Amino acid sequence: METTDAFVGLTCVDCEETFDAEQATHRCPDCGGILDPDYDYDEIDLSREDLESRRFDSMWRYEELLPFPRSAAVSMDEGATQLVECPDLADEMGVGRVLFKDEGRNPTGTFKDRGQTAAITAAAQHGATDVALNSAGNAGQSAAAYAARADLQSHVFLPSRAGFTNKAMVNVHGGDLTVVEGRIGDAGEAYADAMDQHDDWYSVKTFVTPYRHEGKKTMLYEVVEQNDWEVPDAVVYPTGGGVGLVGMHKGAKELRDLGLTDEIPSMYAAQSSGCAPVVEAFDEGKEVHEVWETPDTICGGIEIPDPGASPMILDALRESDGGAVATSDEDILDSAVAVAQKEGLEMGATCAAAASGAWELARRGEFDDDDTVVLLNTGAGNKDDDVLRSHLMSKGV
Ligand SMILES: *Cc1c(COP(=O)(O)O)cnc(C)c1O
Ligand SMILES: [Zn+2]
Repeated sequence: METTDAFVGLTCVDCEETFDAEQATHRCPDCGGILDPDYDYDEIDLSREDLESRRFDSMWRYEELLPFPRSAAVSMDEGATQLVECPDLADEMGVGRVLFKDEGRNPTGTFKDRGQTAAITAAAQHGATDVALNSAGNAGQSAAAYAARADLQSHVFLPSRAGFTNKAMVNVHGGDLTVVEGRIGDAGEAYADAMDQHDDWYSVKTFVTPYRHEGKKTMLYEVVEQNDWEVPDAVVYPTGGGVGLVGMHKGAKELRDLGLTDEIPSMYAAQSSGCAPVVEAFDEGKEVHEVWETPDTICGGIEIPDPGASPMILDALRESDGGAVATSDEDILDSAVAVAQKEGLEMGATCAAAASGAWELARRGEFDDDDTVVLLNTGAGNKDDDVLRSHLMSKGV
């Protein structure tokens, strides 16, 4: 395996045992817990100047802080997305600045590419021939794209309610697509049955592979560097399984521990009130969520009723002095339209939970008037332009 110098292996978040990344490929061999890539931070000698001297061209420019070197990465130069100033939104929310991290500008149009470049690199390094996952849609599309680039066969299980673009592009990338009637959990059952029948399929599913949240932590590195090393006060994130949130919180602590910054941002989980297990657990002071019995939201990317990593998400929210907020689908879709009309920026329906959540947090007085608030736009608006357009039509526009 080709790994970076400081990468020491995978540590279980439950039993805290560390494993060699060559042998341990997915969940903890001892207890089944989530594995987290671990580094010898004393080995990492990186200054702000070192990073600034590199071209802003891909998330792999932070390779010292990733498990694999850039030369080994299955990459399409993902990441290095723009951080766009939103003065009108800042005015409306009564904060100093609103910055829009535009992950829609990734190869397949969402931040899932940061997770899949790392996960598919690991699959290739482990000698996999086939990769598999179930997904609400975007992760499946992304996995099919990166598998194609690595000459691997992908097996993608999507629920019938996944968007047309997702399904179509899995086919276009040559993936083996199975559409399962229902929601993400139904697709998950079909995926699990298929995995049982194919020992040689390598999972690239959320928090089953240790590498998806690892890839996504680079969003935080970029935000800080793009903001001239000023750590923003708040990051609002549309939360489903919490992969990006957990990753960004880890990234923030790494920058601080390496002495590149002094503090970490407050992390906020934004969900739809039609499926808000993380918000409910946060509000009730719990350490783990309860399964959301009847998930019902148009925001497919965050319709995750049973987020297995909720203890890590809740830790990140509390440790960073952040919070959690749920808003209705109606508010979320209104927010996507408002951002498109006020700032020109295109937000996917799911992603707009971040904007709608930030507005709600602002109304509750959660932000100060000189705060810098980052909205994570996890995906491109044109992934679900049909949803946004129908919303306008429902209002007679
Ligand atoms: C997957 C997805 C999310 C949720 O991501 P998690 O890290 O699993 O919480 C949010 N927005 C979009 C567009 C997604 O595809
Ligand atoms: Zn363990």
